[in-house]
Formats: sequence, C-alpha cells, structure tokens
Amino acid sequence: MKTLITGGCGFIGSHLSEYLLERGERVEVLDDLSSGDLQNIARIKDHPNFSCTIDSVLNRAILEKVIKRNDFIFHLAAAVGVRMVIEEPIKSIRTNIEGTQNVLELASCFKKKVLLTSSSEVYGKNEKIPFSESSDSLLGSPKVRRWSYGCTKLLDEFISFAYFQEKGLPVIVVRLFNTIGPRQTGKYGMVVPKFIEQALNGEPITVFGDGKQLRSFTYVADVVEAMVSLAKEPSAYGEVFNIGNPQGTITINELAKLIKRLTKSESKIIHIPYQKAYREGFVDMERRVPDIGKIQSQINFSPRVNLQEALLKIIKGSGLNI
Ligand code: UDP
Repeated sequence: MKTLITGGCGFIGSHLSEYLLERGERVEVLDDLSSGDLQNIARIKDHPNFSCTIDSVLNRAILEKVIKRNDFIFHLAAAVGVRMVIEEPIKSIRTNIEGTQNVLELASCFKKKVLLTSSSEVYGKNEKIPFSESSDSLLGSPKVRRWSYGCTKLLDEFISFAYFQEKGLPVIVVRLFNTIGPRQTGKYGMVVPKFIEQALNGEPITVFGDGKQLRSFTYVADVVEAMVSLAKEPSAYGEVFNIGNPQGTITINELAKLIKRLTKSESKIIHIPYQKAYREGFVDMERRVPDIGKIQSQINFSPRVNLQEALLKIIKGSGLNI
C-alpha cells in the first residue's frame, strides 16, 4: 500500500513514517516545515520506499498530485501546540480548516481513505473526566485564543463526518491526548520536552499556574501503532476514537518532580503565573484524562510504554548527558 502522511516531518509523522517503512509500506510525506524538521526524517530520507515533498496542504495543485498517487492518507499536518495557536491565530486557523478541507475534498474526489488526527483539546473545559468520545465539547469565548484550536479541530471532525455521510468517504478521526517521545521539541511549549531540557541544562523547571493541572501522557509508539491498527479495521471508518493512556496521568507538579529525579538534576522547580507564561486572558484546562474503552474494544488497544519508561527513552534520546 502507498501511504501519504501530511505533516510527515513532524514529531508524530516521522515516527509513523518509520513504523510503516519497517513494515514494508511505501511512504510519501508532505510537509511545509512550518513546525516539522528535516532532521526528523534524517534516518529514513534515503530509504528506497520513502519520498518527501516539501509543500503545504494549502497548495491544492500539489496536494492533488500527492493524493492521487497514494492509497491512504494520514492527515497530521496542523498548527502545533498551544503557543503557536496563541501567537499566530490566523495562520493556525487557516491551516487547520482550509488544509483539512482540501485533504478531505481531494480524498473524496479520488476515492482514497483518510485518518484525521484531532485532539483532546476538543473537550475544552469540560470537567467531567475521563472524557469519552460522546462527552460534550465545552469551548469558551472566541475572545480567548486558546479555544480556536479545539474549535478548528472540532470543525474538522464535523467536515470529516459530513464527507463520510454524504459522499461515502472512508474516514477515521482520532483524538490524541498529550503524545510524547523522542524528537518532540519544546519550542512550541510542550511541557515534557521543555521540562527535560530545563532539567538537563540545570535551568529552573517552569511549572505554570499552581501545577495541580492533570494530564495523561502517551508514548508516541503506542499512538502510532493504534492509528495503523485502526486504519486496518473496516468498522472503524466513520467513527471517532480517543488515543491516550489513562495510566500516564499525572499532575504537572508531580511531572516536574519525576523529571528532576530521572535526570538527576539540581534544577529548582519554580511556579510561573499563567499571565506571565502566555498572555493576559489565557485559560488552561484543569484536567484532561481519556476514557479509552472504545478503542480498546475496537482494536484491543493497550498502551505498552508507561510514563517513566517513556521519559527515560526521551532523556536517553536527547543527546544531553546526565
Ligand atoms: N506547562 C507548564 N510549564 C511549561 C509548559 C507547559 O507548566 O513550561 C503546563 C501547561 O500550562 C499545561 C500542561 O503543562 O497545563 C501541558 O501543556 P502542553 O502545552 O504540553 O499541552 P496541553 O495539554 O496544554 O495542550
């Protein structure tokens, strides 16, 4: 099978590329390098079954070409991280909406299958954890930039199901919960790579707010395996699935302490108010924990890598000595 991965030079996309190549698939990636990095595909760039096109999902002519010559599309290209969404809202909204619209329309036109990566951000400030796929999306005011991300991803989901229902497009939607692993950068504000870098450099570990906020972290290899398994399941099409690891649930305070211990760091753990960390009017999610019952019954999904193992793999892969 020939697979297209939009956003394939990004953190998750590059792991997915490697996974598929190792299983004998042919992989083409499309990436505009807005947050992706050629370094991420350095190990696979010369693989005979791999090719890479540097361009945007907003470029319809190119997108049409690459979609035509593949059978399956993992659509990962999107604005990355809360920081990017807050700092570049127009670009982020456009990429998430217009880019996805292009992918779905062309995939439908050329009869290709799609897996769309959505986000746990769609649950917004719903406080009833764990979130199951039927939980409500509770987004805040459009004056608060953060909600634009969840809103665009939710609209992507609506468009996906509209294509499924009206045009028969075979599409699966997955909602990812705080995926972590080697090659994830702290540049866009993601907490795990940031804390590890701070700890290894002996800099203060910056906990935002009171640090009591709860997150569930999933190792990237588990996420990639789940996405590929779903794609092989005919009954998964037209459905939405959480992909996360409830066992990897931890407060940000505890995460800071755990990373400090695993890196044997002397760094201080400091608390920074949200207004200083982001900008006025920032709202954080207090708790974000997945219910994975649906994907478990669909593909027998069970995350293999626990949080401590995941952190140790990232620390080892960071290239910095401890
Ligand atoms: N966070 C933090 N310090 C940092 C970066 C992030 O305390 O240097 C917090 C952030 O406010 C949030 C959590 O860590 O509560 C996870 O943030 P991330 O941006 O990784 O993902 P989110 O779940 O917010 O999308």
